[in-house]
Amino acid sequence: MADNCLFCRIIAGEIPSNKVYEDEHVFAFRDINPQAPVHILVVPKEHIACAADINADNSVAVARCFEAIAKIAKAEGLDTGYRVINNCGEDGGQTVMHLHFHLLGGEKLSEKML
Ligand code: 5GP
Ligand code: ZN
Repeated sequence: MADNCLFCRIIAGEIPSNKVYEDEHVFAFRDINPQAPVHILVVPKEHIACAADINADNSVAVARCFEAIAKIAKAEGLDTGYRVINNCGEDGGQTVMHLHFHLLGGEKLSEKML
């Protein structure tokens, strides 16, 4: 756990969240400012600051997130599709420096939102 990391504190239960999924390695909760009817943040429990820090030693965390995403999407009834987004760094629009994937769905998403 990284000091002063919002998502580490959410994973630890120090800050409340609307949890939708948890296993040994992954935690997922609803975004506080949803951009679609379903907007879930899927995060590795291991603190990795951003996608630029993924390497051969920690990339299994990404695979585990995507395994969880497939399960969550089924549980949320996103049978006709969904979008997964990662923002990386300042220019990518990342505001919380703990790697996370936005799972968006529940409607036909704009083709402009890539
Ligand atoms: P980013 O901009 O880093 O890709 O995404 C950060 C996301 O975290 C944003 O969509 C924002 O709404 C969400 N967020 C920020 N603070 C909180 C919080 O305290 N709780 C929850 N559930 N989501 C948060
Ligand atoms: Zn963290």
